[in-house]
Amino acid sequence: MTMQLYNTLTRQIEKFVPFNERQVTLYTCGPTVYHYAHIGNMRSYISEDVLEKTLNYLGYKVKRCMNITDVGHLTSDSDSGDDKMLKGAKREHMSVLDIAKKYTDIFFQDCALLNIKKPEIVVPATTCIDKYIEMIKVLLDKGYAYQSNGNVYFDITKLEDYYALTNHKEDEMVVGIREGVERDDSKHNQGDFVLWFTKSKFEDQELKWDSPFGVGYPGWHIECSAISINYLGEFLDIHCGAVDNIFPHHTNEIAQSEAYLGHEWCHYWFHTEHLNDKTGKMSKSKGDFLTVNSLKEKGYNPLVFRYMCLSSHYRKQIVFDFDNLDNMKEAYTKLVNRVKNLKDDGPMQPEKIKEYQEKFKRALADDLNTSFALTVLYEVLKADISGKSKLHLIADFDQVLSLNLLTNEKIDPALLSYIENKIKERALAKQNKEFDKADAIRAELFAQNIIINDTREGTTFEIRQ
Ligand code: AMP
Ligand code: ZN
Repeated sequence: MTMQLYNTLTRQIEKFVPFNERQVTLYTCGPTVYHYAHIGNMRSYISEDVLEKTLNYLGYKVKRCMNITDVGHLTSDSDSGDDKMLKGAKREHMSVLDIAKKYTDIFFQDCALLNIKKPEIVVPATTCIDKYIEMIKVLLDKGYAYQSNGNVYFDITKLEDYYALTNHKEDEMVVGIREGVERDDSKHNQGDFVLWFTKSKFEDQELKWDSPFGVGYPGWHIECSAISINYLGEFLDIHCGAVDNIFPHHTNEIAQSEAYLGHEWCHYWFHTEHLNDKTGKMSKSKGDFLTVNSLKEKGYNPLVFRYMCLSSHYRKQIVFDFDNLDNMKEAYTKLVNRVKNLKDDGPMQPEKIKEYQEKFKRALADDLNTSFALTVLYEVLKADISGKSKLHLIADFDQVLSLNLLTNEKIDPALLSYIENKIKERALAKQNKEFDKADAIRAELFAQNIIINDTREGTTFEIRQ
């Protein structure tokens, strides 16, 4: 089945055709490891995880690479502002590399709690300095870059369509219009961006490297181009990030990569919309932000958050609030309990199984329609097919959904038969119009944290922890 994917570059849904049918290459902008990742960041990593698993589910082999930004990312996305890593190191009285290690480890722990698979290639930006230098040398030789007042800049006027990825007009992007962009008189054009800094405005900059352009450090954007080309080759199938990366980060990545390579570099640009709180985009710089751990401390299973993200489309904004998360918690708990209630009985029904698998595939292949994929899962639960077939399908779907639908502990058989007998007794009481008796049975179970629900498919139960 062919995947249809929205491509930010062409602003339309396109048929996905990889450069090489045998292996899809996928690049993900990784976290800036100066602080905890917030749940907005994690939303984009959840969609990218679903994308990778969907491609696998559809039969593609995927090679995925992610950088870890441990150098060069300034608090403004332009070339001004403070160095984020330095800020984090000062805040916690640690070295930049120790801060990077601490928050990289925590990031991957959070990923594990959300069932986000770690990409097979993870590259800290500080390990590839020689690659950035090599790329910058070529850009200087080809005339795309210039040196001015100690820094090396990329000259955006050397490209035919520097703004191709964005919908914005050039004059909206530069000084005086974009918030937080400071004028830099060393630039030939105010839209130019830094490839290498030697004139650091941060006197206590910890990490500096020798280079033909002077002792200094790389600009933020060059790391993703060089790491991607180095680990995934000259032709990249899909590049991922959230929408805030479109400009300037991904725009600059395209400029320097294509200028360096001399040909088209990345075909599909996949961007996840933001997770906002009521005051707007969730961001680390706001200070007060939610992390996976803070959700856990409030008593939420992190997979409830994953379920919340899957319930929405990756190209729609999510406005996060706890009422919504509570609804998701209830839905997720019910879902897990319904699966727990399934009996592994009856025959395997290959034709039925195939029918539901095709439907599930169609949902995901339709620009990653995860909410429809969840609907297919609910259809399976309701379907008139054997328990064995249902369990098989649920295990199959969970390879992509990763909601631990089957790994949750099974109920002790003695408890299960006790509950089943009580449900039968109650059904009989209701049939005989002995409603007090039926209510008493419900109350008896409730006192043991066993909640019964009368649904269209019969009475189900859930055990509250
Ligand atoms: P950072 O650690 O700031 O480099 O961000 C890591 C990733 O999270 C990047 O791909 C960002 O575009 C993305 N991101 C940042 N804020 C949000 C948000 N509120 N919602 C979704 N993704 C976000
Ligand atoms: Zn990047």
